[in-house]
Amino acid sequence: QYQYDEMNVIAQTVLQMANSVKESRNRIEFEKMIRQEFFSNASHELKTPITSIQGYIELLENGLFTDEKMKKDFYSRIKKETSNMTNLINDILMISRLETKEIEVTLTDVRICPLLKEVCTSLEPLAKDCKVTIELSCKPIVMHANAQQLRELISNLITNAIKYNKPNGKVKVTVTSEAKELVLTVEDTGVGIPEDAKQRVFERFYRVDKGRSKKMGGTGLGLSIVKHIVNYYNGSIELLSKVNEGSKFIIRLPIQ
Ligand code: ADP
Repeated sequence: QYQYDEMNVIAQTVLQMANSVKESRNRIEFEKMIRQEFFSNASHELKTPITSIQGYIELLENGLFTDEKMKKDFYSRIKKETSNMTNLINDILMISRLETKEIEVTLTDVRICPLLKEVCTSLEPLAKDCKVTIELSCKPIVMHANAQQLRELISNLITNAIKYNKPNGKVKVTVTSEAKELVLTVEDTGVGIPEDAKQRVFERFYRVDKGRSKKMGGTGLGLSIVKHIVNYYNGSIELLSKVNEGSKFIIRLPIQ
């Protein structure tokens, strides 16, 4: 009986080991698939503006368009496509930096209110263009974190709240603390997010309205970057939204 029990334990251990090897192989395969999908999407997203730019340049080169107004329009389209490509490359670089675990992330004591004000000031021109006003309310909090990551997180959320707002809309940003957690909320009076898209907006390259996103210089990567940063700090994201009424993103991050 004793030998039988021992054999049983050994057999179970071998089975567990085989299962964990299979699981890790599946995980590696899955990660490989995600990476391949990312590169294929990113290449496609870059190819589209390059093709348009080439088209506009050829039209301008042909000399068929002598109308100055039309030429000006082509130049501004080239400028817009180039700026979209720059946004995309910057976001891809950001994701690659976040995913490279070898890079050491420097953590310091970050004063949240000045950082938030700095981000809002840099987004003021976009808010003015979109006729949106930003309201700020910030409780003084110091968080042990990487300032650049926090800047990226806050900036992506506020940029979206401006871009997907309505003319004369509002963006309300608040920072408070609750039980050793920093609570950041970004609320807008914009177009809102349909129920079935609430989970998907955090996926890479997913957009509810691709046309609107592109027009506003979106890449489809902003919220996936936000999710990545929140996960890095073991935080959480809550999204409340109603179509045509607005959205509210609530981010909770442990302060230490
Ligand atoms: P994008 O660069 O397209 O803005 P994001 O990853 O930041 O990409 O967001 C994904 C999509 O989620 C957007 O294209 C948009 O459709 C939707 N979205 C994000 N934030 C908001 C918001 N505040 N209000 C309405 N829709 C939003």
